Amino acid sequence: MQVPFDEYAQAAGVATELVNTAPRVWNGTDKLSDVVALETFVTTHVPAAWAPGLERTVATEDDLSATHGLRDVLRELIDSGDTRQIVHRATVLTRSVGALTLAVEDDRTRWQAATVPEAPLADQLGLLTGVGVLGVTHALGVERFRPCASPDCAGVFIDTSRNGARRYCMPGLCGNRVNVANHRARQRAQ
Ligand SMILES: [Zn+2]
Repeated sequence: MQVPFDEYAQAAGVATELVNTAPRVWNGTDKLSDVVALETFVTTHVPAAWAPGLERTVATEDDLSATHGLRDVLRELIDSGDTRQIVHRATVLTRSVGALTLAVEDDRTRWQAATVPEAPLADQLGLLTGVGVLGVTHALGVERFRPCASPDCAGVFIDTSRNGARRYCMPGLCGNRVNVANHRARQRAQ
């Protein structure tokens, strides 16, 4: 896994997606309940350029439980809303970093962090999400770590939008839910 620092917003997006697979967000149903779900999560959300070959990853039960642990740490970190807490916890997540290096592209170079070779899957995801969290904290501030505005949603998110006005953890789902509830309330009122 190699994560370019200037793509921290995309990395933070993966952290948001991971946190919101938790049972507490889905009325007790874990959206990351088995190794197949974990493999699908990785191939769906991790940019292929950051982890060549990751689409062929076969996740194990150990990977799954370690990723659940990572998910819990990310949730605590987002809930804390405290800069020092966030930086401390995210730094621990990046412990599998093996090298600080440059990605060399056709006409430019970019800073990036890479894991040690053969790092376990959860450690790779830890580096990825850690870079995302640290990047957002540094560039945008801790007020970007927020709970979902939908009253019946327990999700949280890291807001990487340009204007910082994001309100929902899953905009398509939670935003629509609120719109439907408001619509019904208006209908009842009439
Ligand atoms: Zn939500």
